[in-house]
Amino acid sequence: MAMDWLQHRARAARLLRKGWQKFARAFSLQALRRAWDRWGFYASLALVLALIGGGAAAIRNRPAPEIAPVAAMQPVLESPAPTASAAPAPPMQWPLEGEILVGHSPESAVYQPALGAFTAHVGIDIAGQAGDAVRAAADGTAAAFYASPSYGYVLEIEHPGGLVTRYGGLAAACPVQPGDRVSAGQTVGALGSVLCGESYLGPHLHFETLEDGLSVNPETLGLQNEA
Ligand SMILES: [Zn+2]
Repeated sequence: MAMDWLQHRARAARLLRKGWQKFARAFSLQALRRAWDRWGFYASLALVLALIGGGAAAIRNRPAPEIAPVAAMQPVLESPAPTASAAPAPPMQWPLEGEILVGHSPESAVYQPALGAFTAHVGIDIAGQAGDAVRAAADGTAAAFYASPSYGYVLEIEHPGGLVTRYGGLAAACPVQPGDRVSAGQTVGALGSVLCGESYLGPHLHFETLEDGLSVNPETLGLQNEA
């Protein structure tokens, strides 16, 4: 009886030892490495998917951004466009009275003997005599006075409404300075005798009008002769 018990105990101890060895083998480093070789890819994939899922859930559950009220997004209304009730601009006047030698031809080129080439003509050429008074076509501000290879000395006047007038072929002495206010009909220069690229025409005024920077034929603007 006592021997039986001892035998049972020894057997139980053996079984326990074997079980432990089996358990230890199963979780040995080598076994873990083998398992990783076999299942590691899937484990990594599962981990990545879990992270992505968690991130997506976090984004989904994030509080919605506050939406600005519609009124705040309405564009600011511009001031109403000027209507016919606004005072009409006083009519412009010709800066010099004389025969028109060459008309406005911004697209079809005009032959320029001095240049030996065809060029566009963005103004009109008004015949005159050296020393003739050149007058401002409208109220405005003298903006620039410079020498141009094509038109000799040029005075530029800015007018309200985006209009600019240019007076080419002036004498070097200019009675107005850039920044000076000028009124319609005021003498702003004298016709010169040298007109560079257009000198073949003799003394004349090369007159340009620009609206918002674009050349416009002055003959279409209803200019009047001096009263
Ligand atoms: Zn010209």
